[in-house]
Amino acid sequence: MGSAGRDAHAAPASPTPPRHPYAGSVIVHLNGSLIESRLATVSVFDRGFLFGDGLYEGLRAFGGRVVGMDRHVERLRAGLAEARIDWDAARLKDLTDELLAANGLRDAFIYWQVTRGTPPPGSPWRARVPAHGSIPTILGFCYATPTVDSHQAPAPRRVITVRDTRWLRGTMKSISLLGSVLAAIEAAEAGTDDAILIRDGVVAEGTSSNVFVALRDASGRPRLATPSIQSAPILAGVTRDILIDRVPSCEVRTITADELAAADEVMLVGTLTMVASVVEIDRVPVGDGAPGPAASMLLGVLREVIGSEQSATPLAGVLGRVSG
Ligand code: PLP
Repeated sequence: MGSAGRDAHAAPASPTPPRHPYAGSVIVHLNGSLIESRLATVSVFDRGFLFGDGLYEGLRAFGGRVVGMDRHVERLRAGLAEARIDWDAARLKDLTDELLAANGLRDAFIYWQVTRGTPPPGSPWRARVPAHGSIPTILGFCYATPTVDSHQAPAPRRVITVRDTRWLRGTMKSISLLGSVLAAIEAAEAGTDDAILIRDGVVAEGTSSNVFVALRDASGRPRLATPSIQSAPILAGVTRDILIDRVPSCEVRTITADELAAADEVMLVGTLTMVASVVEIDRVPVGDGAPGPAASMLLGVLREVIGSEQSATPLAGVLGRVSG
C-alpha cells in the first residue's frame, strides 16, 4: 500500500496558492494525511499502478462549495461496491474540505482516486484475484479552476466521432482510461478538440463528458435528448443527472449516430466542461456552426444550480478549517 503520507509531513498552515494551477508543489491528500506533492509516494506494487485496479471521482467547487457532493459520493459508493473495494465513500466530504483548505482554494477541480492498494507482505503482487488484507490507497489533489461567473457562454468545440472500443462497465468510473485516452489522442491528431464515441450506431458519450442533442421530432417540434444508461455503456455524469432533473422535458433514450449528425445542436456536459457547444462533427458544421439556444439554456440551468447550492448553506469558509 502507499505508505508515505500516513504519517509525517504535515501541511503548512496557510500555503500560498500557486500562480499557475499546475505549478509548484501542491498539498495532496494521501491515505489520510495532507502532504506536499513532491514528498508523496505510492508503492510500485499498488494495484492501481499495476492493474488500473481502482476508481476515481472528479468534483468541482465554486466559492468553496462542491457541486452535487451527494451525487458524487453515491456514484463512488456504488462503484466501490461493484469493484468490491472496501472504503467508505462518505469520507469524500470531509477529505475534500480539508484538501481545499490546505491548498487555499475555493474555485477548484478536485480529483480523488481509490485503488485496491498493495497486497500485504507475502502475497503475490500480480495475482488477478486480490489477496485479503490489502488496504485501499486514497489519493486526492486539486487545482484552481475558473469561477462560475467566467462561464458566461458555452465554449465551442470541434469533434470527430470515434468507434467506442472501451469496456462495457461504463457506469464505473474506472481509473483504467486507455480507451478514452486513445480516442482523445485520435481527436487531437485530427486537429479537433474531442471525440464523441459511437457504439454500434448509437451515441455513447464524449471522452470525459456526456452528450445532449437538440433535434426535431417527426412533426418538426424541437426536442432535447441525452443517451440513456441502458442505450450504451456510459457514465451517469453528475452534470448530466443535474440537467435531467432540472429539465424534465429532456428525453433520456437511445440516440443514433444518424440523429447526432442531423441534430440542430449538440452539447458536451461535465464537471470540468460545464456545457460546451459542439459546432462541428467530422468536419461538418452542426446547425449554423455556432453555439445555439439549447446550449445557452443548459449552461444557464447549470449556473443556476451552482448558484443555489452556494446560497443554500452559507459558506462558513473552508479556509482555515483544517489548520484552525
Ligand atoms: N463521461 C465520462 C466518460 C467522463 O469521464 C466524465 C467525467 O469525467 C463524464 C461523462 C461527466 O461526468 P461528470 O458530470 O460527473 O463530470
